[in-house]
Amino acid sequence: MPRYVYDFHEGNRDQKELLGGKGANLAEMTNLGLPVPPGFTITTEACRAYLAHGAEPAGLRAEVDAHLAALERRMGRTLGQSDDPLLVSVRSGAKHSMPGMMETVLNVGLNDVSVAGLAAQAGDARFAWDSYRRLLQMFGRTVLGVDAEHFEHALDELIRSRGVGGDTELSAADLQELVATFQAIVREHTGRDFPQDPREQLDLAVRAVFTSWTADRAVRYRRQERIPDDLGTAVNVVAMVFGNLGPDSGTGVAFTRDPASGQSGIYGDYLPNAQGEDVVAGIRNTLSLTELERLDKACYDELLTVMNRLETHYRDLCDIEFTIERGRLWILQTRVGKRTAGAAFRIACQLVDEGLIDLPEALRRVTGHQLAQLMFPKFDERAARAAAAAPADAATQLLSRGVGASPGAAVGVAVFDSAAAVARAAAGQDVILVRRETSPDDLDGMIAARGVLTSRGGKTSHAAVVARGMGTTCVCGAESLEVDAVARTLRTSDGIVVGEGDVLSIDGTTGEVFTGAIPVAASPVVQYFEGTLDADAPQADDLVRAVHRLITFADAVSALHVRANADTAEDAVRARRFGARGIGLCRTEHMFLGERRRHIERLVIAEDEAAQQESLAALLPLQRADFEQILAAMDGLPVTVRLLDPPLHEFLPDLTELSVRVAVAEITGEVDEPDRRMLEAVRRLHERNPMLGLRGVRLGLVVPGLFVMQIRAIAEAAAARILAGGDPHVEIMIPLVGSVQELELVRADGERAIAEVAGRYGMAIDHLIGTMVELPRAALVAGELAASAEFFSFGTNDLTQMTWGFSRDDAEAAFFSLYLEKGIFGVSPFESLDVAGVGRLVRLAAAEGRQARPGLKLGVCGEHAADPDSVHFFHAAGLDYVSCSPFRVPVARLEAGRAALLAPQIEESVDAGLTRADVEAVV
Ligand code: PEP
Ligand code: MG
Repeated sequence: MPRYVYDFHEGNRDQKELLGGKGANLAEMTNLGLPVPPGFTITTEACRAYLAHGAEPAGLRAEVDAHLAALERRMGRTLGQSDDPLLVSVRSGAKHSMPGMMETVLNVGLNDVSVAGLAAQAGDARFAWDSYRRLLQMFGRTVLGVDAEHFEHALDELIRSRGVGGDTELSAADLQELVATFQAIVREHTGRDFPQDPREQLDLAVRAVFTSWTADRAVRYRRQERIPDDLGTAVNVVAMVFGNLGPDSGTGVAFTRDPASGQSGIYGDYLPNAQGEDVVAGIRNTLSLTELERLDKACYDELLTVMNRLETHYRDLCDIEFTIERGRLWILQTRVGKRTAGAAFRIACQLVDEGLIDLPEALRRVTGHQLAQLMFPKFDERAARAAAAAPADAATQLLSRGVGASPGAAVGVAVFDSAAAVARAAAGQDVILVRRETSPDDLDGMIAARGVLTSRGGKTSHAAVVARGMGTTCVCGAESLEVDAVARTLRTSDGIVVGEGDVLSIDGTTGEVFTGAIPVAASPVVQYFEGTLDADAPQADDLVRAVHRLITFADAVSALHVRANADTAEDAVRARRFGARGIGLCRTEHMFLGERRRHIERLVIAEDEAAQQESLAALLPLQRADFEQILAAMDGLPVTVRLLDPPLHEFLPDLTELSVRVAVAEITGEVDEPDRRMLEAVRRLHERNPMLGLRGVRLGLVVPGLFVMQIRAIAEAAAARILAGGDPHVEIMIPLVGSVQELELVRADGERAIAEVAGRYGMAIDHLIGTMVELPRAALVAGELAASAEFFSFGTNDLTQMTWGFSRDDAEAAFFSLYLEKGIFGVSPFESLDVAGVGRLVRLAAAEGRQARPGLKLGVCGEHAADPDSVHFFHAAGLDYVSCSPFRVPVARLEAGRAALLAPQIEESVDAGLTRADVEAVV
C-alpha cells in the first residue's frame, strides 16, 4: 500500500513530484536545521486518489492520525486542546508553483472553547477572537463554499458601526460579536453549524485543498503555463506560528537578490503585528527589511544568516516567507524565486563568478523566451499605465486591445496602405501601417513601417508571421477597431476616429493600441547584437555582458547550427551580425512583385515560346542582381534559395477588378486585347483552394522555363561572385515536392543550366540541389526523395497545415481560441511544433532520408525554427540546422546551446517514463 504522509524531516527538495514544491522545500529546510515550524505533508498521490474516487484513499486517515499524534507530542499539546490549543495551517503546494491558485486555511483547531484557552495562553483576548474570526472566514469560504462577500460585508458593517478606521482597531468584544455573526452566516448559507470538532475541521480543510486543484482558475492557470492536469496538489499541515501577537511579532517576505534587476542584496517587506494574508491583501503599508533591522536586530541577523545559507544551498535566488512570533524567527516557506528576464541573465553570471555554479548550469538557467523579451524595445511602463487609465478625451489613451503578435513598442503616424507607408517613411516619418488584414501586396509597406496593426487575424495571420520575421512590432485582430482603407480612418466602437497622419502607439507584447505617443526605450541587448554596443565597452552594463557571455558559450556547445530566413541583402547582413551561419531560406516571391509583376503577366499570356522567352530574359538579370547581393552579404556561408512557391494568381491582377474593366470596355467598344487575354488567364488560374493548388514545384513544371531561369540566375550570380573574389555556396531548394519524379524533372533541367553557366565561365560552381519537406507524402517517401535530393529542409508551416488539414490563413481566427480553451491544444501547432504528429513525420523523414543518403543535410525553415521547445526537438531529431528570421537568430542560438546541454538529461528522464513536457518543465 502506498504511503501518503511524510513528516518534514523525512523528505527532501528532490521530491517535488510527491510532496509538492512547498512540502519538498519545507523538508529540505527542516533537514538543514533551519527554524521551520514542525508539520507533515500529505502527498500528491493521495490527492490524485481522492480526485479519482471522490473519497480519501484507504489508510490515509490512520496515517494522518499517527503524524498528528507525533506532532502533538512534539508540541506538548493537542489539536484544539481547550486550555492551550495546538493550531495548524493547512496549505496547498503542487509540484509547480501556482501562486494564489489554490487554497490555504489558517488557525485550524479553534472552536468556541479553545478560543478562550488561546486567549489565556497568549494573554491577549483580542488576538484569540481575531484568529477565530479569520478561521471562520477562510473555512467558510474555502471549505464550506460560502460566498466571501457575506463575510466581508459583515466585517465592513461592523467597522462602520464602530466608527473605526479598519479591522485592527476593533476590540476583543467587537471581534467576539463578529465571530457570532460569521457563525450565523455559515448556518444560514450551509444549513449546518461551523464544525466544533478540531479533527473534523482538519479533515474537511484537507479535502478542500485537494478539491481546489480542480477549481476553474487553477485549471486555467495550468493551461496557460502548460502544467499537466493530472499532477494533483500536496497538502502541508503545519503548526501555526503567529505574527499577529503584538508589536514584537510580524510577518514578511525576503529575496536573496533583487528579482527585478538581479542585483545582489537583501530585498523584501515586513509587516509588524500581522498574519501572512495581510501582506498579500495589501491592507497596510509594509516596511522594508532595513526597518526590521531597527525593530528587531536579533531576528534580522538570524534572517540574514538563513538567507545566506539557503542561497548557498540552493545555488540560486531564493524567496522566503517568514514570521516572527514574539521575537522568535520562523521560516514558513522558500523556493527558487521567479525573476524577470534581465535578472535571470545577470544572476546566472553572478553565481558563476561567485563559484556557486558553472557556465553550463548558467546556460541551462536562462531561456530563449527571456532573451526574446530583452530584445524588444519597450514602452515606458508608467506612461503606458497612465494612458490606459486616461479619460476618453485625453490626447494619449488606450484605444483597443488586440493580439500581441510580434513584440516590441512602436510609435508612428497611422497610414492605411502600403504606398502611403513607403512614401511617408521615405520622407523620414515613422509610420504604423493599419490594415484590416495584410497580404503579400503590403510587404513594402510592412518593411517601411515601424509597426503593423490589423483588425483581423491571429498570431499566425500573414501580418503576424511576416512582422515577426522582420522583427517589426505587430498587433493583430484588434476587433473593436473598424478599419476603412478607402476613407483612411479607423474608428472605435465609442466613435473615436483616427485618420491618416494621426499618431498611434502599439505594444506588440500586450496587444495594446494607444492614441498619441508613448515614450519608448531601446534595447541595449539589440544594440549589442547589431554591433553598435561592444560587450567590453564601458557603457555596456552587466546585462549586456551576461548575454554576451552566455550566448558565446551556447555557440561553443551547440550541435545545431542557426541560419536565417532572409530575402534581401539587408536582411542577410543583419542576420550575419546576429550570428547566423548562412541562409536557410531565401524566399523569392517578393522578387516578382511591384514593377516586375508585368514580366510575370506577360509570361502568363505569352502565346508562343518566343514571347515566353522574352519575359524570362527580362527577369533573368533582375534575379541575378538579387542573388548576387545576397551571396555577397553571406560570402563564405551557405545560401539556400527557394524557387518560386506561391500560386501564380498572386502575381496577377484581381479577377473582379479585371472583369469589371473588361466588361466596361466591351460596352464602350474599347476592348483592350491584352486585358482580355489576361482576364482569360486569370479565370483559368483561379483556384478554390490555392494552398492545395498550382504552387511550388507544380507551378515550376506547368510554366516552362520559370525555374530554369531562376536556377540560371543563381548560377550566374555565383559565377559573378567568384569572379569578384567571393566564396559563394549555393543550395537550390525546390518547394512543395511530393514525389521523386517532380524533383528529378526540375533537377535535370537545373543541373544542365548550371553546367552551361559553369562551362561558359570556365569555373566550378559549388552547389547543392535539395527539396523542402512540406507534405506528409514527402516525409513518407523521404528515402526515395533522398536519392535525388542533396538536402532536406522541413517547411514546418506547410507540413503542419497539410498534416492537420488546417488552413494557415483561416484556421487560427476561425477556431483556434476554442481549441485552446477546450485544451485540445496547449499551444498553437503553428507556434510550437506538434511533436506527436508533425514531429513524427520529421523523425521518420530524417531517418529514412539519411538511410538512403548518409550525411544528407537536414534543416528546418518553418516558423518553428526559433521556438525554444521546437529547437530542442530538432536537436534531438539530429537535424543539422534551424533557419529563422534574422531577429530571432540569437534566441535560436541560445536554445541550440541549451538543447545540447539538456538533451541527455531529457532523454534519460523520458526513458525513465516521464513525459517530455514534464521533464522540460522542470529543466
Ligand atoms: C514552410 O512551409 O514551412 C515554409 C518555410 O514555407 P512558406 O512559409 O513560405 O510556405
Ligand atoms: Mg511552405
